[in-house]
Amino acid sequence: MTYRGRFAPSPTGLLHFGSLVAAVGSWLCARHAGGQWLLRMEDIDPPREVAGSAASILVALPAFGLVTDAPPLFQSQRVAAYDAAFEQLRAADQVFPCWCSRSDLAGTDGMHRNGRCIALAAPDRPPAWRLRVPDVEVAFDDALQGPQRQNLRESAGDFVIKRVEGFYSYQLACVVDDAFQGITEVVRGSDLLDSTARQIWLQRCLGLPTPRYRHLPLALDAQGHKLSKSGQAGPVDPADPLPALRKALAFLSVPLPGDTLLVPDLLVHALAHFDPALLPQCSGHSVA
Ligand code: GLU
Repeated sequence: MTYRGRFAPSPTGLLHFGSLVAAVGSWLCARHAGGQWLLRMEDIDPPREVAGSAASILVALPAFGLVTDAPPLFQSQRVAAYDAAFEQLRAADQVFPCWCSRSDLAGTDGMHRNGRCIALAAPDRPPAWRLRVPDVEVAFDDALQGPQRQNLRESAGDFVIKRVEGFYSYQLACVVDDAFQGITEVVRGSDLLDSTARQIWLQRCLGLPTPRYRHLPLALDAQGHKLSKSGQAGPVDPADPLPALRKALAFLSVPLPGDTLLVPDLLVHALAHFDPALLPQCSGHSVA
């Protein structure tokens, strides 16, 4: 089977260092395996989107030498596929409408664990839709972080797959599109390690294949905070790509050449020296 990897940014701002690491890491793994590298713009959450950022990410990636093998897939154009997946779950009685407010769930860590809504149905208001999650343990072997195991009812409960506003959740859209794009290995930041069990469970509910997962370390500041949350995560500059690209490669343990190589040759060099077995096996480390 041909390796197919992807980078799936959300257009919530300009490309920053943490996203560049995910882009470069997924690109290196795909090219190292002789596979394809695809792009998916996860523009299904209009309230969180920042105007112009999808376009700016699409322009930035090739400036860092990261060129995809197919035109990008836009999740905003995939609603019919999410509707079909939702209908499949509804026909199998795997989802239920929920009108619970935060205060209804205050006693249960904000989670829902009984497979039905505990608030009174309010037909005048649209519900959120939750997946009925049984008492099940989902285990998978992350290619970098090792064996993982999560009791889904404990850790996630009956999670939302369609929001009150009518938008589909990241979890649903992600599994439908990973399958649609034929992704064989998901390489992304460790902040999404926690979503993976939910995604694997949804794949099982929908009869979709499960790709391999490889969760890269997160870029942290000197205090151990996620860079993107600590105000240090200024956008990377596509007009001057070398400093951030070198830093991203170093972050991924790729040995750097002297500083005479320009972007295309730097990536050729990086690929020749990249070894997935040398990726740092931690969930996060600080940026030098
Ligand atoms: N769109 C998600 C993000 O930017 C990443 C999704 C994924 O790689 O599965 O955090």
